[in-house]
Amino acid sequence: MVHSETMRGVALEPGSAEESLYTRVFQELRPRTKLNGVVVRYRRLANASSSIQWKEGWLEAQLSDVFVAAPESVKEALAWILLCKLFRKETPARHLDRYRRYLNRKEVVRSVEQLRRERGKKRILPAKGIYFDLVEMFEDLNLQFFFGLMARPELGWSPGRSRSILGHYDAAHHTIVVSRWLDGGDVPRLVVEYVLYHEMLHLKFPEERNGVRRCVHTEEFRKAEREYPHYQAANDWIIANVSRR
Ligand SMILES: [Zn+2]
Repeated sequence: MVHSETMRGVALEPGSAEESLYTRVFQELRPRTKLNGVVVRYRRLANASSSIQWKEGWLEAQLSDVFVAAPESVKEALAWILLCKLFRKETPARHLDRYRRYLNRKEVVRSVEQLRRERGKKRILPAKGIYFDLVEMFEDLNLQFFFGLMARPELGWSPGRSRSILGHYDAAHHTIVVSRWLDGGDVPRLVVEYVLYHEMLHLKFPEERNGVRRCVHTEEFRKAEREYPHYQAANDWIIANVSRR
């Protein structure tokens, strides 16, 4: 499924609190440089990233709307971080600290996750590839290993042909993505099946998360993985072909 995203931003009125904040921080960093004006926009982004540009005397900042409701001290910290980065100066530690602490707050982490889910661009190609159909394959594996009881998530091929990431399960979008590199005439079906089966096991054994997104394979997971009858053959093929240049 392809989620689209509106990239329109709302430019703040001249004379906004943000404009005077960016002007003030700019003048502290670059007291002798002429500033023609400042434009600050809050954008609907899928994460908390913000950016700033300097063009012919104009500053143009695009802030994630995660910060619209942030306390003034956090908005100020963000202004320092963006402007220091722009002019290659060291960001004062207190601003970095304040910014990080804000993004680590439980409710902020949760709202960023939520935004990611709602707006995140998830560009995947349809499950029916040129050589393999992931839906059909999923249902075969489902019957064979999960009593047909696993609810099917979104399935699709990655737009890129990654050899380093052959598959992943994206919990925020409830989607299994398989690298398009595997949708090839010289790729054994058992390899694609194995990669898909591995990702299906991530649905069966949800990982414990501690803020950091990573692939966790418990003992139990590994054991279930070895129940795939072509486990060895699939791994051998992957090792032989991924390292091939
Ligand atoms: Zn894994």
